[in-house]
Amino acid sequence: MPPDADLTRRRFLLASLAAALAACADRIDPTPRPGPTSSATALAPAPSPSPAAPSARAAAPSPSATPPPSSAPVPAAEPPATRRLYRDGALADGRSDRLEVGVSIYVEDGVIRWIRPSDGEEDPGPRRGLELIDASGATFVPGMVDAHSHLTMPGGAHWIERGLDNPATALRVAERNARLLTSAGVRWARDVGAPRGVDPDDGRERALSLGIRDRWAERGQRQFPHIRAAGTWLTRAGSLPAGLAIEARDADALLAAAERQLEEGSDLVKLYLDGPDAGTAPWSAAEVRRVVRMAHDRDARVTAHAGRLAGARVAVAGGVDAIEHGYELDADLAADMARRGTFLVSTLAVFRSWLTFGRTTRLGTFRGGGASSIRGRLEAAERSIAIAARAGVPIAAGTDFGGGSLRANQLAWEVEALVAAGLEPFEALAAATRTGGALLGERNAGVIREGGPADFFLVHGDPLQSPRVLWRVWRVDWAD
Ligand SMILES: [Zn+2]
Repeated sequence: MPPDADLTRRRFLLASLAAALAACADRIDPTPRPGPTSSATALAPAPSPSPAAPSARAAAPSPSATPPPSSAPVPAAEPPATRRLYRDGALADGRSDRLEVGVSIYVEDGVIRWIRPSDGEEDPGPRRGLELIDASGATFVPGMVDAHSHLTMPGGAHWIERGLDNPATALRVAERNARLLTSAGVRWARDVGAPRGVDPDDGRERALSLGIRDRWAERGQRQFPHIRAAGTWLTRAGSLPAGLAIEARDADALLAAAERQLEEGSDLVKLYLDGPDAGTAPWSAAEVRRVVRMAHDRDARVTAHAGRLAGARVAVAGGVDAIEHGYELDADLAADMARRGTFLVSTLAVFRSWLTFGRTTRLGTFRGGGASSIRGRLEAAERSIAIAARAGVPIAAGTDFGGGSLRANQLAWEVEALVAAGLEPFEALAAATRTGGALLGERNAGVIREGGPADFFLVHGDPLQSPRVLWRVWRVDWAD
């Protein structure tokens, strides 16, 4: 280790000791007080012992500022520092059930240059311009992938009505959702259905998620999640409330609608395969296959909303790339999915969210008999997930925020729900990170690796022991 680094290390240990004393002082008076007069603030050492380190937080805009509809930056992620050394954290990335402790990560220009044991660090180069981050007691987690989201809608107990809000409102909602996603450690969101409308920003009539995706990519990726979007739901008439989806009368119209979605810029096609009659799929496997072939020829993917078994069977036989929800899979279908490599995107927390509405709303649907029926559906869905996991189906986690009742910063809830359904915490973490990345076909999504973008966040505790830890986000530092 070069002498310069050794000096930095000694200063760091002294700073750690001071931090321990500050923690004692904090224990005497645990009441948080705002401003610089707080005893904890006064005693705590500077976050970095390097005198040259820039004060990252000082430059951050106020997180409480409300941006105008679609022009202001989203202030959740830390501003960029050219070089950063995160020292002495733990690492959990869903590849194993073992937490790695004593891990240092060196980042330059938003790229992870090296990951080393903290007692065997490489020379990070000159101290000038290096921000040293004491990551002790925190865990590095890959930026998560919300594999089932609806950016333009806010969620809540009236989630379906909110899908009919006007386009200007939808864009404002998406801006807020971007901030919520980032602050919750979600780096990628896969939008699987947005209402169609005239985008007030670019004047184009198409799925509102597409203009949002494009503008966020232009405005700076550090401040916005990466988006892959399906455009608008494609349904058979009567499956969804009027005005929300594109309805096809027959298989030719379905194929034409799917082609149009891709021509308008969708990354994937979303078929809605729960028909007006729950026990009958609205299309045949052959009709689904025509759409899949067309999309695959254009390097796009197809996914299917299939809460019910009938639609899931048709979707898998038709060759879709993923099933959304999959609340009623059986062992035969799960085996078929595993063989074909069909992903399952879980959205179990939706039912858990509905159960809270029995107390927080006046809506009768969520009380009494309604609540028992929701509980029954949740139990069936948990069995379905367990069957899929046992069969080896790749499972990605989604909130269904917006198109369902969750909010955009609640992916941790789905990870908890997966563990309640029988997955190991590391498997559930993989569902919210690397498997979501594989579903997107993005090699940098949901992983922490040397040479990859510094898209990780830090939480307090061990998420391989308890998924609840994912709610305790300390710091989010996205790469540009
Ligand atoms: Zn959905």
